[in-house]
Amino acid sequence: MASNLEAALEAWREALGPAHVVLDPEALEAAETATFATTQRIPAILRPADTAQVQACLRIAQAHRVPVYPVSGGRNWGYGSRVPPGDGSVLLDLGRLNRILEHDEQLAYLTVEPGVTFRQAHAWLRERGSSTFITTIGGSPDASLVGNALERGDGRGPNADIFQHVCALEVVLPTGELVETGHARFPGARAAPVFRWGLGPVLDGLFSQSSLGVVTRMTFWLSRKQPWFREFFCAVNDDAWLWDAVDRLQALALDGTLKGSVFFWNDLKAFSVAQQYPYASVGRTPLPDWARDRFREGFGRWAISGSLSAPDADIGALLEKRLARALEGAFRPVTFTPGPPDGESPFQGVPSENNLAMAYWRKRTPPPESPHLDRDRCGFIWCSVAVPFTGAEAKRAVEIAERVPRLFGLEPNLALLALSPRCLYLVTALAYDRDVRGEDARAQACYRALSRELAQAGYHLTRSGLQARDEEALPERDGATELVDRLKAALDPGGILAPGRSSS
Ligand SMILES: Cc1cc2nc3c(=O)[nH]c(=O)nc-3n(C[C@H](O)[C@H](O)[C@H](O)COP(=O)(O)OP(=O)(O)OC[C@H]3O[C@@H](n4cnc5c(N)ncnc54)[C@H](O)[C@@H]3O)c2cc1C
Repeated sequence: MASNLEAALEAWREALGPAHVVLDPEALEAAETATFATTQRIPAILRPADTAQVQACLRIAQAHRVPVYPVSGGRNWGYGSRVPPGDGSVLLDLGRLNRILEHDEQLAYLTVEPGVTFRQAHAWLRERGSSTFITTIGGSPDASLVGNALERGDGRGPNADIFQHVCALEVVLPTGELVETGHARFPGARAAPVFRWGLGPVLDGLFSQSSLGVVTRMTFWLSRKQPWFREFFCAVNDDAWLWDAVDRLQALALDGTLKGSVFFWNDLKAFSVAQQYPYASVGRTPLPDWARDRFREGFGRWAISGSLSAPDADIGALLEKRLARALEGAFRPVTFTPGPPDGESPFQGVPSENNLAMAYWRKRTPPPESPHLDRDRCGFIWCSVAVPFTGAEAKRAVEIAERVPRLFGLEPNLALLALSPRCLYLVTALAYDRDVRGEDARAQACYRALSRELAQAGYHLTRSGLQARDEEALPERDGATELVDRLKAALDPGGILAPGRSSS
């Protein structure tokens, strides 16, 4: 194995130039660190500059049977950061492939390489005075569009279910061969960036949440800023009222009044973004009920937020009226805030680091100016499951997610994200301090218990990550996993791409 690696490193140096085959122990150690405990070692980091170099990297990996693991932004915080699922995988860092390849203002799309970040894409569109925007996420602005979309990430605004709004992938297979999806595979195809399906089986999904290829190009559909735009916010103190509000908002999502994502945040989530754990007044963890109640006094138990947009003020006023009626009787009545004159709102593509504060909730030092969760030893694990968009289903799933973290001494930090008129994501964040002994193990045990209990109740993971890599947390094997394994064996004969990544 060691001699295979030496030979592969030599070949990679030749292909990329020695400066782009990184062996610096500090850089490797940083890449081996996630927001929870991991044991995997990374022998080297490769930094290809273009698709041809990615192909060369994979051919060399295949020839020498050395495993590689791709990352684009490397900010997969809460799901494993840059740590590969298998020990001994070389990191394929795609950050240098960071070109914006095409933009069409009228048809509203952007074609990018995998290293392009949310910050970069937003700044690029703004500099050009574009009236379009790319859906952004609550995570790091330095996360990549492509890494996020491939994980089927969730955003803010009209294209919140991000993978629904991409097409024309260019993919390097584990053997180094190149394929393109949709019409992008036909030379000179005019509709490649605007037509998702292409001809024949739709291949795009095979490359998301998978280890079947490395994506080196993707087209994202943009949204247009609307002349009339409002953010809305209200707070709820009574659970029964909340579940009714979930049903009322679902009806508005289905009839088109609400076109963008809607967020339901519980008190603890809002608390953890606004401030750190109140050690001074509470002294111990987890947060006792009296402290939680005190915070709720001004805030309420749940906050509901989202945005409305319309082509003109008359239509906007109607939408506003319909929403206000649906949320009548809230603890803190619904308020509508006009967007800034240039439309620069998180619901219109402006990335921000604000939400990263929640990962510093249990830390004893304040979040730094440039948060970096791996470096700062923030303990952070996401558990995201799919729930039908009804009040009754949301209530049933939330009851589990409220109860289980407390059994492990953690606060239930919860959000319900409405990305479509039919489905909610119930997202639980387990935030802790990695510097406190025993907390890594406790949080992992909590994740296992929570994901298992939610699955038993019928609410399954939308996205797994490295925290789900042990037997107990993974879904059972079935026909679908067998099929993916057969595809994997066919496409990756040496098993060199992201080995250990689960096939479910
Ligand atoms: C406080 C906080 C808030 C967050 N909010 C959100 C949110 O609102 N929405 C959301 O979706 N996520 C959120 N996240 C999670 C995470 O930060 C994001 O999903 C982020 O977009 C990951 O992107 P990345 O570019 O860093 O991914 P990467 O680390 O580059 O990759 C993610 C995964 O995709 C694979 N991959 C990456 N690039 C390629 C490629 N080119 N080809 C094949 N496979 C590839 C990797 O192997 C890895 O498994 C949040 C995290 C935190 C800590």
